[in-house]
Amino acid sequence: MKPETACIHAARDTSHSTGAVVAPIYQSATFAHLGFGKSTGYDYSRDKNPTTEHVEKLVAALEGGTGATAFASGMAAISTLMELFAPGDEIIATDDLYGGSIRLFDRISAKNGIKTHYVDTSDLEAVKASITENTQAIFIETPTNPMMKVTDIAGIKDIVGACKILLIVDNTFLTPYFFSPIALGADIVVHSGTKYLSGHNDTLAGFLVSKTAETAEKLNFLKKTLGGVLSPFDAFLVTRGIKTLAVRMEKSQQNAMEVAAWLKTHPKITAVYYAGLPDHPAYELSKRQARGFGAMISFRVGSEEAAQDILNRTELILFAESLGGVETLITHPLTQTHTEVPEPQRAARGIDGSLLRLSVGIEAAEDIISDLEKAMG
Ligand SMILES: *Cc1c(COP(=O)(O)O)cnc(C)c1O
Repeated sequence: MKPETACIHAARDTSHSTGAVVAPIYQSATFAHLGFGKSTGYDYSRDKNPTTEHVEKLVAALEGGTGATAFASGMAAISTLMELFAPGDEIIATDDLYGGSIRLFDRISAKNGIKTHYVDTSDLEAVKASITENTQAIFIETPTNPMMKVTDIAGIKDIVGACKILLIVDNTFLTPYFFSPIALGADIVVHSGTKYLSGHNDTLAGFLVSKTAETAEKLNFLKKTLGGVLSPFDAFLVTRGIKTLAVRMEKSQQNAMEVAAWLKTHPKITAVYYAGLPDHPAYELSKRQARGFGAMISFRVGSEEAAQDILNRTELILFAESLGGVETLITHPLTQTHTEVPEPQRAARGIDGSLLRLSVGIEAAEDIISDLEKAMG
């Protein structure tokens, strides 16, 4: 089954007898037993719920994993993931990481004795040099947020080799439609399902997809124990969103290509970061390891004042955090998503007041461009 078909038909629920084309929402916290020692397979919704299980099967199928575990948000997924580790363990993480993940690693995981080394994972030698005998995992985001650096996942897999280091990839930006980290050697794929998977800025969700049944079982145990589960209604919304994932990814990428090309030619724009531009350092790598470049673009205007002017003036494009929905959104990483990143780290990564990030939606490209053009004055 091709990916666009899988988005609609993988994990189709054939167990119910009504013929309903859409899987129902089982809005039930608990499930009655058929008799002593007899379960329907469902006992309590923190452990398992048919609607949530349906979206888990769908996401696992799309990512090529053995199983997926659904959470109430991307951060609920990542914080549960961190319970795989114990005091004294070390993880290596991409330095240009989602701000919420940095806050979790530095403020919560550090307190629990887990040390994070931030490394530019697009530099394979730097990753190699950072591995110690305590390294338990490498946590990668690609392309990165907001600088759009790309990591060679197969290259990282080669470095890890046969060691027991878990390779974890946050695939929120490219989605399984464009990128398959498990096929390249990843052990766990992370998603903020809030973004492209649900796709309409109307729900929060998170997923951990496991390559092996053993990891899936551990993560399911952690999920039911810690309890940050996805509700049946939100699971339904994510399932519905995924049905149009392919068309949304194609259209938003097409728009992103046009917007990035236009930004490149604008005299007030001093830099454009988008892996789909042929002069991006990872253009060739992206073409080799992925089926698309996605629709996230960062760009730099001359100054923080110029950036603020644009944020105040866009009309169609909404000045809002988040990404991956049908609406084009613009954010100011310095004051929104990356406020908690310490200043020296921000400066080293190039996150300053003049940087803006666009999540390109599925409107007409010319309307998006004309809104930007007006906002730039
Ligand atoms: C948004 C995001 C998260 C966190 O997900 P939430 O659903 O907001 O909790 C994690 N990683 C990336 C790359 C994100 O964009």
